[in-house]
Amino acid sequence: MARPALKTLATGPQEAKEEILQLCSSGRLKDALHHRFLGVIWSEAGLFAHLFRACRALPILRQLHAFAATSGATADRFTANHLLLAYADLGDLPTARNLFERIPKRNVMSWNILIGVYIKNGDLGTARKLFDEMPARNVATWNAMVAGLTDSRLNAESLEFFLAMRREGMRPDEFGLGSVLRCCSGLRDIVSGRQVHAYVVRSGLDRDMCVGSSLAHMYMRCGFLEEGETVLRALPSLNIVSCNTIIAGRAQNGDSEGALEYFCMIRGAGVAANAVTFVSAISSCSDLAALAQGQQVHAQAIKAGVDKVVPVMTSLVHMYSRCGCLCDSERVCFGYSGLDLVLCSAMISAYGFHGHGQKAVDLFKQMMSGGSEPNEVTFLALLYACSHSGLKDEGIDCFELMTKTYGLQPSVKHYTCIVDLLGRSGRLNEAEALILSMPVRPDGVIWKTLLSACKIQKNFDMAERIAERVIELEPHDSASYVLLSNIRATSSRWEDVSEVRKTMRKQNVRKEPGVSWVELKGQVHQFCTGDKSHSRQREIDECLDKMMAKIKQCGYAPDMSMVFHDMEDEEKEVSLAHHSEKLAIAFAFLSLPEGVPIRVMKNLRVCDDCHLAIKLMSKVTGREIVVRDVSRFHHFKDGKCSCGDYW
Ligand code: ZN
Ligand code: ZN
Repeated sequence: MARPALKTLATGPQEAKEEILQLCSSGRLKDALHHRFLGVIWSEAGLFAHLFRACRALPILRQLHAFAATSGATADRFTANHLLLAYADLGDLPTARNLFERIPKRNVMSWNILIGVYIKNGDLGTARKLFDEMPARNVATWNAMVAGLTDSRLNAESLEFFLAMRREGMRPDEFGLGSVLRCCSGLRDIVSGRQVHAYVVRSGLDRDMCVGSSLAHMYMRCGFLEEGETVLRALPSLNIVSCNTIIAGRAQNGDSEGALEYFCMIRGAGVAANAVTFVSAISSCSDLAALAQGQQVHAQAIKAGVDKVVPVMTSLVHMYSRCGCLCDSERVCFGYSGLDLVLCSAMISAYGFHGHGQKAVDLFKQMMSGGSEPNEVTFLALLYACSHSGLKDEGIDCFELMTKTYGLQPSVKHYTCIVDLLGRSGRLNEAEALILSMPVRPDGVIWKTLLSACKIQKNFDMAERIAERVIELEPHDSASYVLLSNIRATSSRWEDVSEVRKTMRKQNVRKEPGVSWVELKGQVHQFCTGDKSHSRQREIDECLDKMMAKIKQCGYAPDMSMVFHDMEDEEKEVSLAHHSEKLAIAFAFLSLPEGVPIRVMKNLRVCDDCHLAIKLMSKVTGREIVVRDVSRFHHFKDGKCSCGDYW
């Protein structure tokens, strides 16, 4: 490969080293690799470690690795550990594992890095196995295990680890303590919580903002609100800024419930919330689809005088949309004088989420004529709206406008919308060609989008091919296995279906269980597929049986091919009838007054069978049913769904 020679001032190894590191830190790794002194100074301890750390892409790392190997640098343990870390960070688990096996005289750091990789990939079984195998452990090893188990919500195991760590005389740091307190919160275990509190005080970490707030939250979760507030008030750095960091941290870690609880607690401790706090709190309500709580927080924002602050309004638009109340989103958005770009983009995305593509297009045009400069976010919202409403031409036009007129660079998400649109039109080959030719790296989502299009268009040969790609990219994501097994089931290839299951078992992939929930008088009722634990279970079953009988008269027949959607449960019709969304709808029928629309949220995609059943339920009962699944809203009315049966 011919490259122009790099201008270098170095006359000896010392200057050369500095130059090379400079090149690395400014991202010019290739130039660093071609530095004429590199060969002379490779043995300089730490140089390769720096180079590895600066690596941002696997191909470059592989080049660097090859170079380090030929120059003998990888024989050094320190260098080898850093190489391992670099592969781990870039997500190449097989190579990392391979390297680990070959590291000369592995030390604790080598083991810790590998354990960290498995924890990050959610494979706690292997992490645990390595933990047991390793000859010596340090405090970082223990903290990593405690944090990993807590993040996977294996609270009891995590607590056990923490206690074992104490028995071994290890001193947990603030991260370990934060994790173990989160476990106690999760387990509502006040006894262990108080023990940890005592340890926190002994180790002098009770004034640490992070530990202190986890401690306060633990008390609150266990029902000791006042003690929680006392702990909070004692923190020297308690102010709205530090509280906001904690609330945002909780929310970003997926603990929306914790974020909201903390939001309530700081108010009790006398800290006045500001706009940033409200944005986090409202977003947490969106994630939980907790409408009643969202309305309360909205009322508090009005009292605090921040309800006309654009970011707060934007999060309100989003929250109401997520909770199925599009009208309230509109009220918030159009209650603002003028057309703010961010606010309107949120509204466009809300229209998209509810399948009102035309309204999204209209609002976009209004913004344009008002002189707004749309950005990538606006276009993404609009493309998404077009793709979810099947507005094929508008979507393609919008993409052209974005790339040609505005010269904006589309991301993989923009391309995903176009692939979805092409898929709807049955232009599967074009969609595949687009993915292969786009200048950004395809991710699992875009391939999965094409995969569902193949399924809907019944192009099973192509589906097989695409599924293989998806599984290669995301070997631990259950969704693609489920899609593939559904596709094979549709053509009655049962042998091949069980093949998929075997692979899943071998790869240790578990299907995420289906969960649906309904809010009733501010309380959330949760239903799992096949669940029999609700206090009104008998009534729910009766109601569901009656409804199923009614829709069967309208021509409903259970779609047996979808039984394998629920791969662990093979009780055919019975298992289908007890999908979580059906249970939740039956409960809502029993509990809500006549005429009130039913709103159900679900953590996965609605399956084909439930979709058909719910359409018919809306017809025979004359009731409006709104189901929010993982990717969109379905408005069922008079036997039809707003998604037009494409989802
Ligand atoms: Zn279902
Ligand atoms: Zn639908």
